[in-house]
Order: sequence, then C-alpha cells, then structure tokens
Amino acid sequence: MQSEIMVDVKGLFKRYEALTAVKGVSFSVHKGEIFGLLGPNGAGKTTTIEMLVGLRKPDEGTAELAGFDVKKEVNKVKEVIGVQLQSTSLFELLKVEEILHLYASFYPTHVNIEDLITEMLLTEKRNDRIKGLSGGQKQRLAIALALIHDPHIVFLDEPTTGLDPQARRTLWDIVLRLKKRGKTVILSTHYMDEAHVLCDRIGIMDQGELIALDTPANLVKKLKSTSTIEFQLSNPPEKEWFMNLAGVEDVSIRDTYVQLYTDDLQAALTSFISASAEHEFKIQDLQTRLATLEDVFISMTGRSIRES
Ligand code: ATP
Repeated sequence: MQSEIMVDVKGLFKRYEALTAVKGVSFSVHKGEIFGLLGPNGAGKTTTIEMLVGLRKPDEGTAELAGFDVKKEVNKVKEVIGVQLQSTSLFELLKVEEILHLYASFYPTHVNIEDLITEMLLTEKRNDRIKGLSGGQKQRLAIALALIHDPHIVFLDEPTTGLDPQARRTLWDIVLRLKKRGKTVILSTHYMDEAHVLCDRIGIMDQGELIALDTPANLVKKLKSTSTIEFQLSNPPEKEWFMNLAGVEDVSIRDTYVQLYTDDLQAALTSFISASAEHEFKIQDLQTRLATLEDVFISMTGRSIRES
C-alpha cells in the first residue's frame, strides 16, 4: 500500500531578477519519510524550502503540504508545518524554558513542554539564557520551537552546519526520532554523510535544478563504478597508462594524488599492484573505498560538492 503523500511539489520556479534560483523543481514526500535536499551552496535548497513554508512566493508551479495549497491556504499550511531556518534568530536574553512557553502561547494547542525539553536534551539548560548556549544546543532549541504545535511536517534548513562532529551526531539522533514518531521531515544539507545517514530519499540539487532523486543506496548503485582506489605516486604516469589496467573504468589525477574508479575492485587492484611492481612505482597512502554520494555528484556535474 502506498503511504499518504504529505508534500507534493510541481514545477516550482523562483527568479531573482536575472538569476533563476529554482528551475522547475518537482518532488513528493510520503508520511514518515525523511527527504533530503542535497547540493552545494547556492544550489537553490533554501529558496525551495522558503517557497514551501510560505516565506517566498513561487513565480510558477504549485505545492501542497498535507493537502493544503501553499499559495491559497497559508493559514492551514502554518498549522501543519514546523520550520527551523538557517537564520532563526532567538531572543538571546530569554531563558530556554521561557522561550518555549512564549512560543507555546502563540498556538491554540501545544505539546507537553517538559517532554519536549527532555526529547531535545535540554534539561540541564532549561534555566539558562539562550545567549550562553552552544551552537548545538541552540539548534536543538530551534527544532524544539519548530515542534511546539506538534506539526505533521518539519523543515530543517542545514540543521548541522557549523556544528562539531559530536553535536552533529546528537542532532542526527533527534531527527531520526522525529521520523519514528511519524513526522515527515524535509531537510537541506551540503554534507553527503548526513544525507546518507538520515535520508530515506534524496533530491540532489545543482544550479536550481533537481538533477537526481532516489534513495541514497540507489543513487550510488547507478554509478558505473562502485569502488574507488586512492593513492599517491611521486610522479604518476598519464591517464592512458591507468586506463589500460584491467578493471579500471575511469581515472582522476591531481598532482601526485590518483583515484581509480572501478566496479571490479579485485581486478583493478591486482592489475595496478603488479604493473606498479614492474615499473618500480612507490605507492603511498593506498586506500580503497566504496562509492559515496560525493561520487554521484561528481559523476553528474564533473565537480565536487565542496568545491562548487
Ligand atoms: P546555501 O547552502 O548557501 O544556503 P542554497 O542551496 O540554499 O545555498 P539558495 O540560498 O536558495 O541556495 O540560493 C540560490 C541562489 O539564489 C544563489 O545564487 C543565491 O545567491 C541566490 N539568492 C538567494 N536569495 C536571493 C535574494 N533574496 N536575492 C537575489 N538572489 C538570491
């Protein structure tokens, strides 16, 4: 049985004068799914989210959230969504508990604040002023505020940008718990590992377009090469030399750093090692790894997400 569609986006466009920031984006998200928009800075993720939550008007296209039209049923949409934006500014002088009660007072009904404080791991900070919180604690508070009216759909715009690894993982656990409680989550990120760990499906955005959409595993499976061999050589030969090795599908060489792409790791590794022995190459830092979403982005755009 197909589950309920909570987010249905068709052909969204947004233009800022000469720049078209979002170019006909369409996707749908099912109840209880974590859907990720993954892409480099400037890809159009924030603009897409802002159009869905009613902060920007789409120039073209339609979007329905829990069956409500984002252009025509703005108040209904507000009841069913919770939003944490990159730019959420909190009242720095208020205490954690005070701001939660303040936000709760804006809605006819709200969740139990004690439970929310526990769930967002803010118990020890409940009487602290917001300005003294760490980045991770502030983000957890911003998510708590987004959840206060018990929305069906939660938007998180780059929730872990700028956080240390420990704080990122804590936030991942919180997002996964939202899913367990049946919330539908849309999050944007430029971290591949985050998208891979959290998202049931991912839409890869680049230059305003959704260039791929699938589960993380399927996106990686569609790659011609499923593994990469990485190493350094002080004076690597030309690309053609590597391309002649059995099992090697593609090669990238940057200074002394070489990557061989293959879907037959054993054949490629064996042929490379024996050919290197013949030529007395001194191989350094050899590693093999499975293809990642980063490789998917590179194979589709020719660029790395990080250098875009
Ligand atoms: P980031 O990770 O940096 O937030 P993003 O994928 O969310 O990136 P957007 O913030 O949606 O991307 O930006 C998409 C494009 O639109 C960028 O080129 C950006 O410079 C441009 N842009 C965003 N907001 C405006 C605005 N208010 N006026 C003009 N151009 C804008």
